[in-house]
Amino acid sequence: MENLTSCLVCGNTLFTPLFSCKDFVATGELFQLLRCNECSFLFTNPRPSSNEIGKYYQSERYVSHAGDKAGFSFMYKLYDAVRDFSIKQKLALIKSYHDGGNLMDLGCGLGYFLDGAIKDNTFKSIGIDISDDAINYVKKRFGYEVKNESELDSLTQNSFDIITQWHVLEHVHLLNERMQQLKRLLKENGTLFIAVPNSNSWDAKYYKEFWDGYDVPRHLYHFNQKSFDALMAKHGFKVVDTRPMIFDAPYISMRSEVHKGNRLSFLKGAISGTVSTINAVSKKDYSSLLFVVKNR
Ligand SMILES: [Zn+2]
Repeated sequence: MENLTSCLVCGNTLFTPLFSCKDFVATGELFQLLRCNECSFLFTNPRPSSNEIGKYYQSERYVSHAGDKAGFSFMYKLYDAVRDFSIKQKLALIKSYHDGGNLMDLGCGLGYFLDGAIKDNTFKSIGIDISDDAINYVKKRFGYEVKNESELDSLTQNSFDIITQWHVLEHVHLLNERMQQLKRLLKENGTLFIAVPNSNSWDAKYYKEFWDGYDVPRHLYHFNQKSFDALMAKHGFKVVDTRPMIFDAPYISMRSEVHKGNRLSFLKGAISGTVSTINAVSKKDYSSLLFVVKNR
């Protein structure tokens, strides 16, 4: 385990414990969440080091063959349909900012978004991932060569118009170093598209320690709009738009219902997800947030 003694966003050393959350998917271990008294950044602390985190990904949710089960039940079909629709929505948003150029999907996982981007053919797209299992899966499933994250620093600077990170940044141990890599690789007029769970959402407050968006200890950070803005500003970026990830609200809520041990999780999750989205409209505190980020 490693212990953060200063806030990764603002450097402040005074924190307030929020509560402890259970690792519901891999080990059942408890992890504490701390909030920075200064900038409200919420993080998992202590946390497994990058050498220790591997075992926490040994669950169906994160193992790369999860996608192979698709096609049997109604739920899997629904999941596939939602995923495909969501990929099209993401691409439509990106196209409203860029009509071509180089795109990097950083943390491409099983490669579904990468596949969508490549087939869409508007951008020259590449994928990067930290997991050899994921890299091998994408090669086998789609035939694409995905680079390992260790190669990020050898890529040419200012060479990407678009860098996407879909539910990735909350998993990155070297957060500030990652932001510096983004700064180096993004073109002057480039755009980052970063999606993260929002710990200030209605569903986060409703489910508390059972909220699936905490997903400890894999999620090292639990952003809200304020702490995310602060992290971007620190690295010379600014948030220019904040969008909902509308399907995350019911999905996260259903999984949270399961963590609570409740029956009818599908139905209750669908209701909570809808309530969360309705509550989010005025302040944009959706269950998950998709930030559009530019150089300052
Ligand atoms: Zn702070």
